[in-house]
Amino acid sequence: MIVMTNAPRLIAWELTAGCNLNCVHCRGASTSSVPAGELTTDEAKHFIDEVAGLGKPILILSGGEPLTRPDVLEIARYGTDAGLRVVLATNGTLLTPELVEKLRDAGVQRLSISVDGANAETHDNFRGMPGAFERTLAGIEVLRKTDFPFQINTTISKRNLEEIPKTFELAKELGAAAYHVFFLVPTGRGKSPMKFPRQTTSVFCTGFMICRKNRKFS
Ligand code: SF4
Repeated sequence: MIVMTNAPRLIAWELTAGCNLNCVHCRGASTSSVPAGELTTDEAKHFIDEVAGLGKPILILSGGEPLTRPDVLEIARYGTDAGLRVVLATNGTLLTPELVEKLRDAGVQRLSISVDGANAETHDNFRGMPGAFERTLAGIEVLRKTDFPFQINTTISKRNLEEIPKTFELAKELGAAAYHVFFLVPTGRGKSPMKFPRQTTSVFCTGFMICRKNRKFS
């Protein structure tokens, strides 16, 4: 076994490039068409074995949309059994009560849900799908009803910068355990003109301070 003094604490793993949405800012340029060459289930398990050999980091199952992978529950269970703290990042549109219970059974400890605006207009504009906001809120409602821990993530760009404080309030109203904001990654469909303008850094700092003021949030 490899002994590491600086073992990773967090690994975000893009399980698939496939996704049911078509967001304008997607750094992976994900679509419903899954490119050839993604890891098989056995290869994914081998990767988990290697991660577990490095330490016990939090393993974020991400994408693309990880819930579009038919073997996502099997992979999550394998990671849990390997002693990792498995969490999952999703757009929230595919969540059903049955699926949430299966995620719980697989040992998934928290979901992060992407919400990129405080209203349907902004969020759907990002997501490339009318109705995405409602579907994401419906997914969050399932989590609330089943008492499954979740946080809300927002990617900041020029399109939603001014809505960050409202989106933060929405996250609180929805009962999120945390609100995390991320800078846009300017690759894939996230290239210009979505770039984050330099002068808006101060606004981001304002949003960050708002978050810090609320002790319930991380
Ligand atoms: S940003 Fe996320 S939800 Fe949107 S297309 Fe990309 S992977 Fe899918």
